[in-house]
Amino acid sequence: MQPAAQRLQRYRAWMRDQGVDLALITHLPNIRYLANFSGSAGYLLVRPRRAYFVSDFRYREQAHQEVFPWIEVRIPREVLREVLRLLRPGRRIGLEADHTTLRFYRFLEGALTRRASRKLVPLSDQVLHLRAVKDEQEIARIRKAQEITDRIFQDVLNLVEPERMTELDLAAEMEYRMKKYGASGPSFPTIVASGTHTALPHAQPRLVKIARNAPLLLDFGCVYQGYASDMTRTVWIGSQVDPEFEKIYHIVNDARARAIEAARPGMSTADLDEVARAYIRKRGYGEAFGHSLGHGVGLEIHEAPWLAPRRGKRPEQFISRLQVGNVVTIEPGIYLPHLGGVRIEDLVVIRPDGAEVLTRSPRELIRL
Ligand code: ZN
Ligand code: ZN
Repeated sequence: MQPAAQRLQRYRAWMRDQGVDLALITHLPNIRYLANFSGSAGYLLVRPRRAYFVSDFRYREQAHQEVFPWIEVRIPREVLREVLRLLRPGRRIGLEADHTTLRFYRFLEGALTRRASRKLVPLSDQVLHLRAVKDEQEIARIRKAQEITDRIFQDVLNLVEPERMTELDLAAEMEYRMKKYGASGPSFPTIVASGTHTALPHAQPRLVKIARNAPLLLDFGCVYQGYASDMTRTVWIGSQVDPEFEKIYHIVNDARARAIEAARPGMSTADLDEVARAYIRKRGYGEAFGHSLGHGVGLEIHEAPWLAPRRGKRPEQFISRLQVGNVVTIEPGIYLPHLGGVRIEDLVVIRPDGAEVLTRSPRELIRL
């Protein structure tokens, strides 16, 4: 667990290992994590003993209120000029390789590296690795975001009017309730999918009426004090459940339960993915589960660690083992174009003795 005051110290220790004496952090969730600034424009410069947060006039008040006291706030008239001025003492200046545009890189190169002794160094996203291990305050915020999400699902069960409401109607009702219940908004655009549209894992809600005698899939979450939640439930609209739907529902739900049961610190993220994937494969639906098992959730809706098969990972997604304090989704699915899809997604915290499930919404098959 990493109390806020230790975050910058840990980052500095890593900077020393990388041989950089100055790091420029530009990715806003990383700035929020290291400096506590929640606005939408700013630069964080980390040196071995000092750190500076530079933003513009619009954030003068907010920056002084929010930014951790051990970081110096600068609100200059010309932001980039001030950033360059603060970068100049650096010899090896680290940039976030995953978050720096080529244009900005060229700009810094032109302004800073005319002196041969100064070098720009691409850095991997170490803040993302620090962020993967949540402290109790972060977990409390995610828990609250998930509570709001569960409450909205409970509302939805009473709200759905098949053949009258459209997918967009329902999505609007859900997102409206997020703010009503104290969230700042959705953590990603709410997915409401009816009928065979549920076979699209990232379906967008349409101006199409919710069908009867068909599945309805809801994938949604909200943001509470900066932290996201994420949940999927698939229900059946109508009294007569299609037998194949019922079959795949139970397979997905069992795969979910098995993965949660298996999760523990030290376990390889690819091995956890395989627990659910092997189960679905053995029941004959391996080809119909084409996405990864889950992802970390925190300041961003998708962050480290990624629960994915080894071959599917991009290099920056490599955190290979679960750690105490990870918050991850477990979301297996089966998608059949002729019938529709089932996905069931829970949010869990990795604890020393296994996974603590934050999601409270029911998992048994609901008919509406
Ligand atoms: Zn989701
Ligand atoms: Zn998810």
